[in-house]
Amino acid sequence: MKILYASSEAVPFIKTGGLADVAGTLPIEMKKQGIDIRVVLPLYSKIPSHFREKMKKIGEYYTDLTWRRQYVGVYCLEYEGVIFYFLDNEQYFKRDGLYGYPDDGERFTFFAKAVALLPKIIDFKVDIIHTNDWHTAMVNVYLQDFKRGDKFYERIKSVFTIHNLKYQGIFPSQMLFDVAGLDGMYYNEESLKYYDTINMMKGGIVFSDAFTTVSKTYAQEIRYPYFGETLEGIVNRHYYKMMGIINGIDYQVWNPETDEYLPYHYSLTNWEDGKKLIKKEIQKKYGLPEKDVLMIAMITRMVKNKGLDLVRHIFDELIQEDIQFVILGTGDNSYEESFRYFAWRYPDKVASRIYYNEEESHQVYAASDLFLMPSLMEPCGISQLIALRYGSLPIVRETGGLKDTVKSYNEFEKSGNGFSFANINAHDMLYTIRRALYFLGIEADKRQLIKNAMNSKNSWETSSKEYIKLYKTLIK
Ligand code: ADP
Repeated sequence: MKILYASSEAVPFIKTGGLADVAGTLPIEMKKQGIDIRVVLPLYSKIPSHFREKMKKIGEYYTDLTWRRQYVGVYCLEYEGVIFYFLDNEQYFKRDGLYGYPDDGERFTFFAKAVALLPKIIDFKVDIIHTNDWHTAMVNVYLQDFKRGDKFYERIKSVFTIHNLKYQGIFPSQMLFDVAGLDGMYYNEESLKYYDTINMMKGGIVFSDAFTTVSKTYAQEIRYPYFGETLEGIVNRHYYKMMGIINGIDYQVWNPETDEYLPYHYSLTNWEDGKKLIKKEIQKKYGLPEKDVLMIAMITRMVKNKGLDLVRHIFDELIQEDIQFVILGTGDNSYEESFRYFAWRYPDKVASRIYYNEEESHQVYAASDLFLMPSLMEPCGISQLIALRYGSLPIVRETGGLKDTVKSYNEFEKSGNGFSFANINAHDMLYTIRRALYFLGIEADKRQLIKNAMNSKNSWETSSKEYIKLYKTLIK
């Protein structure tokens, strides 16, 4: 089976968000399972030079965007057994950032068309092209278009994955004719048309043979207006070919037994001393009293969807408990200021670290006893998976991937790996946090919970098998 996996970012080359983690790790896992999968990315000038120096140029071709005849250089690099192709065009990708330019529509239409042409140029007889989010969604449209006149494309199937439905790639309708070079047939309600514009995400859904999103619960949620971001109608119309497949985390990077950022290491059988010592380090670093007290952590982008309004609503009540609270994050000014204020008001109990720091994030996962993630919506969520692996018990709102990966503790059956609540209600959350604190105060329950959490299976192995199964159903 031959797969071309197209993305606008992938670790370790270039990253702005969770899509990069998926695109950089899932293909490597699939390759281990015997799939000939190759990844294609834009050759951004931001990609570090030590990677660029190792790339080999293997060819070049031109991609037409109506009257524009655009150069495509094909560079290639093998990383962890997987071939990564980088498509070069300096006009589009020699920039300081990845996104947010006035010509983003043109840049990613170019990339999409170049991706669709690539297999034929390099004679890679792909069975499936797998695309991700709006930046590569137009590949699906071009595939459909090429099938009408070119035998090479006849058998090729497509899979489209939605990582974040919020960003849809909406552009003026003239783009369809002036840039994409597609005819009026694609400008109707069942195709790319979206009010008076075109919507690339919609194109990805409509023209793929199957589309997926990053958790089973989110796959249900986006059928309703609250989560559907105005595309719920289209999602429902194409629901017959939709699937939810949960993301995993890289178990080599996130491993408390070997993590290079941790001053001490620990495992399922000896977490107690390791976690205690790391907690002391973090308390010292963050100016909190160095004592044996339960620590609640948040590591998050500070935006509305992360449920921070719930947290600040009950914060004065919560902090009356015998706890320490650590938050590491950046984002909207209003949230940053609130948590700076809490740290000022409760200096012995609260540390607010308003910045991004990878190393400290590893240490905070390891140091904390509870990890709070009361998101209003969460397509998958990575943080709760890391928290589980580091024995920090997640307290989550039951939405999207949080609902699928965190099961609330049942003290009678001794099952569950964290705590959860259903309503967007600050006092429901406070009640749930108090419930968690109560069980962490009982030695036997605490041990059971940490064991269940650290035993949770969230590596890429299971999910990659689900993708492979989906590929197989498409090409049989
Ligand atoms: P989202 O992608 O919506 O931000 P996820 O939970 O899927 O949320 O992923 C967030 C990732 O970013 C996690 O790996 C988390 O550890 C990391 N992260 C968020 N904020 C920070 C920060 N301030 N410092 C370090 N890592 C952070």
